Amino acid sequence: AAALDGKRAVVTGTASGIGEAIARAFLSAGARVLAVDLPQSNVGDVYADHAGAVPMAQDITEAAAPDAIAARASEALGGLDILVNNAGIAHGGSIETTTDALWDRVMGVNVTAMFKITRAALPLLKESGAGRIINLGSIMSDMGGPELFVYGTSKHAVAGMTKSMAVDLGRYGITANYLQPGAVVTALSAPFFEDEAFRTYWVEKAPVGRLGVPTDVAAAALFLAGDDAGFISGVGLNVDGGAIVK
Ligand code: NAD
Repeated sequence: AAALDGKRAVVTGTASGIGEAIARAFLSAGARVLAVDLPQSNVGDVYADHAGAVPMAQDITEAAAPDAIAARASEALGGLDILVNNAGIAHGGSIETTTDALWDRVMGVNVTAMFKITRAALPLLKESGAGRIINLGSIMSDMGGPELFVYGTSKHAVAGMTKSMAVDLGRYGITANYLQPGAVVTALSAPFFEDEAFRTYWVEKAPVGRLGVPTDVAAAALFLAGDDAGFISGVGLNVDGGAIVK
């Protein structure tokens, strides 16, 4: 049997990048996936070839989003075993240039929506008996963001939130872990990598000597989502080619 046969998953931010790679990896492993992304995204088309995918056009920062996502998971999948809070945004800037509005936007997607969606999904994850929460942190969950002040702040919050989830939810058989991608080429990061010096810095910082691709991160998500990972909780897993230790 495939690793996730019969599992029901919600993945946010699935119209592109890491979230799309995670959703596709889960589908290939036998899961059914509620694939959430913005109404203006093409999430409705991305999974047209996949019977196991249920696309959902939803801005996760809207007040009604958490309950709407849980309700759709219940209706369309019949429950929920795996929640991947992947949707995230990145904007550059130091503390000096970060406006209140930018702070609220980045924290709203990367932190507040993660909290509220997970809270709304908990009744379903508790019913599962072996729930899995996988949150997208970053290499910047461990280091100060270089000209990425609010982004780096938000990813440290993901680390703290995930550890608290792990502590509170273990009693329900739920594990909570976060992934810490390094430099991975996606729509989110492409503008930063257009800067040749930035690109070279990250290639040289990674001992494996290359930038990451979304499937590098999906492989780690697939591992954490599986039944064999049930004794792993509260962990941040670096998927960064070794960049953080160099
Ligand atoms: P991406 O921009 O390619 O994909 C993110 C997706 O999330 C997009 O499809 C976008 O439409 C969606 N999204 C954004 N805001 C949303 C909202 N309010 N409601 C619903 N959907 C929304 O980005 P990515 O690089 O694949 O990033 C995915 C996650 O990985 C993010 O949390 C990011 O911080 C994290 N990450 C990425 C890198 C990297 O180098 N790319 C490194 C570390 C961490």
